[in-house]
Amino acid sequence: MRSWPACTRRASCSVMPPSDGRRGADLTALYQDLILDHYRRPRNRGLLEHADATVTKKNPLCGDVITVQLELDGDTVRDVKFAGEGCAISQASASMMTQMLKGRSAQDIGRVAATFTRMIEGDSSAAADASLGELRALAGVARLPQRQKCALLAWSALTQALVSHG
Ligand code: ZN
Repeated sequence: MRSWPACTRRASCSVMPPSDGRRGADLTALYQDLILDHYRRPRNRGLLEHADATVTKKNPLCGDVITVQLELDGDTVRDVKFAGEGCAISQASASMMTQMLKGRSAQDIGRVAATFTRMIEGDSSAAADASLGELRALAGVARLPQRQKCALLAWSALTQALVSHG
């Protein structure tokens, strides 16, 4: 089994991937491939020309930095980009997150963010919620307390960006 790519700055943040005997190694590998794919080929990475809200968040535990930019139409997200650097979990979570936002209202996004946060904090009913889509690939992070901040960093920036605008 491959290990997660190490964090950029702190060796303490580098851990083996989560394994889940109930789901089987194939699914764990599939999830891991999805995370690495988003890490290597991030979606919606870059900067917006006309952002209505920009928030940068840092995770000092791991050295992750994420900037989320939103272009809004009322309280609906018209476009989103993210930038930053850090470990695979932080960057993949940001990339997957941006794929779910366009055309959705702040309230709707708030529900997804709350469900995702519960999943990362270990709520198995949240992990089974189909509304999370690909984000469920990150469910294994619930067993890695040191990495939970990595997975939630982009969402924290997103939530603040929506609040600061509204
Ligand atoms: Zn990290």
